[in-house]
Amino acid sequence: MRVELLCTGDELVTGLTPDTNSPDLEARLFELGIKVQRVVLVGDVREDIARALREAASRADVVIVSGGLGPTADDFTAECAAVAAGVPLVEDAGTLRFLRERAQQRGRELTPNVARMALVPEGAEVVPNPVGAAPLFIVRMGGCRLYFLPGVPREYRTLVDGEVVPRVRTELELRAGRTYRAFRLLRTVRVPESVLDARVAPLAKAHPRVVFGFRTHAPENQLKLMAEAPTQAEADAALAAAEAAARAELGLAVYGADGDTYTGVLARLLTEARATLSLAESCTGGLISAQLTAVPGASSFLLGGAVVYTEQMKMAWAGVSAELLERHGAVSNPVAMAMAEGIRAACQTTYGLSVTGFAGPTGGTAEDPVGTVYCALAVEGAPTRCERFSIAGDRDLVRLFAASYALELLRERLLTAPSSP
Ligand code: AMP
Ligand code: MG
Repeated sequence: MRVELLCTGDELVTGLTPDTNSPDLEARLFELGIKVQRVVLVGDVREDIARALREAASRADVVIVSGGLGPTADDFTAECAAVAAGVPLVEDAGTLRFLRERAQQRGRELTPNVARMALVPEGAEVVPNPVGAAPLFIVRMGGCRLYFLPGVPREYRTLVDGEVVPRVRTELELRAGRTYRAFRLLRTVRVPESVLDARVAPLAKAHPRVVFGFRTHAPENQLKLMAEAPTQAEADAALAAAEAAARAELGLAVYGADGDTYTGVLARLLTEARATLSLAESCTGGLISAQLTAVPGASSFLLGGAVVYTEQMKMAWAGVSAELLERHGAVSNPVAMAMAEGIRAACQTTYGLSVTGFAGPTGGTAEDPVGTVYCALAVEGAPTRCERFSIAGDRDLVRLFAASYALELLRERLLTAPSSP
């Protein structure tokens, strides 16, 4: 089934309002196995809207139109729909009655601009709007069905969920020869996109029914798997096989799937292990704390920590000795380890995690240039582990990846030694 979306409104093509209606609907349609073919944005110009409607109707089986159904002078989508369909606008008696009663309830007269919302193209099916004034109407043009919805996101979403998606689903089920889809997003950290691509490329050949796609959202790289088949069972099976192969190839780098979040997954691992955590952050300046405390219930594992930005505070709050700082410098393996051990001792936690590095743009040394970060994890009964990372990018990116790499030390430890924290 070919589906297109058409959104009208000057605000959408002048940088004032991002189109958020389309992504919502795209996701809902994708759950049905429909991949939207095209999304078109058009400003409030009558000829442009009428032409866009005719063009979309000539290509698609279903077009879902948003915006321009309100009472103001720039709302004329119904008029354009009538022009495109070659029919007159007619007054829908039910809508007019509803609008009059709605006005009365608010102690107002029905004004002509509000009454205009009762005008729909002749022959349209009209569906009341449970959360607003302008109704949904449905028009047939040739082989295409066009749904017209108000642009206000709350009204749009309500009508999409309550009326449009169920109708599209019914229409889809009546069709022969449809394509079924199944979808999985694998979320990875630590593996650069090019490496991810190189490791996964050989799998694509062995799974011809699955489309492999990539997306970067720093510090994550995501692998998108979409299976297509003539039945849902075959699509599900093809997806499961490709997912198993990708997980086997990528191992621990896959931290989660679909709607998982990194900190949510880590929080679950810490909670399951009944482990607690403290943090000593230098170059990340509290970023890790902020990320972890964004998870509801973080107090069950994150006891506290310190932003130890200067040498003085590394000594005072993380118990780092003056001698160690003097000998190795604040950005060094021994100091990172001492920070992790010191904060763990101070907070009495299962784990102590530390970060120290040069976020730039200035600073650094010949051996440890800007972008060098040391992360350390201290735990009772095992040697403290420290890793050095070289991170390319600006200050924001260095800090973001420093936080991610530090947390990775912890996640890896929780996954590989879950019963002996
Ligand atoms: P309209 O139905 O054209 O009167 O739109 C009403 C309001 O809904 C606009 O002023 C926008 O703020 C909002 N809106 C319309 N279309 C969209 C869209 N595609 N995405 C997000 N907001 C929208
Ligand atoms: Mg508008």
